[in-house]
Amino acid sequence: MEERVIFEKGRQGRKTNYIKKLSFPLREPKDLIPQQFLRENLNLSCLGELEVIRHYTNLARRNFSVDANFYPLGSCTMKYNPKINEDLANLEGFLNLHPYQEQNCIQGALEVIRGLEGILCEITGMKRFSFQASSGAQGELVGMLMIKKYHQIKRKKKTRVIIPDSSHGTNPATASMCGYKTLVVESTKGGLIDLNKLSKLVDDETAAIMLTNPNTLGLFEENILKISEIIHRKGGFLYYDGANFNPLLGKTSPSLMGFDVIHLNLHKTFSTPHGCGGPGAGAVGVRDELIDFLPLPLVDYDNNKLYLNYRGKHSIGKVRSFYGNFTVLLKAYIYLLRLGREGLLRAACNCVINANYIREKLKNHYEVVFPKCMHEVVFSCVKQKAKGAGSYDIAKRLIDYGIHPPTMYFPLIVKEALMAEPTETESKQTLDYFIQVMIDIDREISHTPELVKSAPHTMPVKRVDEVRAARFPDLRWKKNGG
Ligand SMILES: *Cc1c(COP(=O)(O)O)cnc(C)c1O
Repeated sequence: MEERVIFEKGRQGRKTNYIKKLSFPLREPKDLIPQQFLRENLNLSCLGELEVIRHYTNLARRNFSVDANFYPLGSCTMKYNPKINEDLANLEGFLNLHPYQEQNCIQGALEVIRGLEGILCEITGMKRFSFQASSGAQGELVGMLMIKKYHQIKRKKKTRVIIPDSSHGTNPATASMCGYKTLVVESTKGGLIDLNKLSKLVDDETAAIMLTNPNTLGLFEENILKISEIIHRKGGFLYYDGANFNPLLGKTSPSLMGFDVIHLNLHKTFSTPHGCGGPGAGAVGVRDELIDFLPLPLVDYDNNKLYLNYRGKHSIGKVRSFYGNFTVLLKAYIYLLRLGREGLLRAACNCVINANYIREKLKNHYEVVFPKCMHEVVFSCVKQKAKGAGSYDIAKRLIDYGIHPPTMYFPLIVKEALMAEPTETESKQTLDYFIQVMIDIDREISHTPELVKSAPHTMPVKRVDEVRAARFPDLRWKKNGG
């Protein structure tokens, strides 16, 4: 198939001419648009409708997506997003809502927000949630800004935030953006926080620790209650990065573990589509003492009517317009109502079983670093690297088999890491296919490492200079190839 950009496909003067001659005079653009905004000679591509349709349909078929491919991208929870969420979010009453509408006639929408908050409080043990943040990272920012303001009001000198070396990159970034110095606490050989090292790092200036549990190695921090005690004793907070909450659903809760502030990625665990910078929602939940600091408004009852409550003594203010990405909240709410308590528990169990199934079947072919796992499994491809192709090459070769690469070189503390998160929505057949492909690729590396080293072979673009592409993005089309 031809690999040309749409600008190269056009022919001067070609167009789709379906509109019959108008019976009224056409006004020229220059009569309608102020002079300074007028542009001429746009050099737009001229194509027929069919050519446009083919161009974009063929491009769209090139996409890897959860709807088309197994997508075990660790720490991203690329699970199936039920289509009924979309159908219901497209109901007339939701579709045509306007954020400036009278509160009287958006009682249903407010109930969605309030209802979602109620369920999330039940699942996590938190007391209230704000849905303003548009992403997990922004949720972290909200959480840490609240912690910062709390310490300021209490006139406590707090300068440092502790972060494990296995943490997601957004954690130290958030702490730095809030003006904190980050201290990294090392993991033990078993992949958990080293309590002795932690105790040495904690002092009166510790503002908080940011943690994920299960952590990014897919392991459950068994000493979480001790960690909680060490931090709380010095007046610090426990921040919970709940971006990937699947394995905890209905099993246990961050509040039982001692966490004070959490964020959940509704666009991961709660099945709203994500990726490519689409709309998300970082739901931020808090215990009693931080409710007053949440972004506003919250949805509250007054005489059996819901209203937008803008009172919050110490609110950190707004972090985005209106109430957050409303349809994301709606889809998460639909998901929760459909599954119910029992369904959520099954989701939690299945995501853990699926990861462990992969782990067991591959452990004789790829090195597994830790003795067990929760919802995701980390392989270390050091053996394969020694034979001539490492985790990067394996990830690229998976593309040829129609599988999206797992997360590569993360967590940072595992050499040649490949981290697979199958999620609960995959069938045994799909997992078996992935396992077989991984075994086949290992065999390919033994016999013809260069085959894996030069993958992918089936894609229009082979290997790109990813660092250059990220550092110097240039998306403009240039004549004569560019
Ligand atoms: C995805 C993720 C985040 C960031 O969430 P975004 O919505 O991408 O900003 C933070 N922490 C962990 C552990 C994650 O997996």
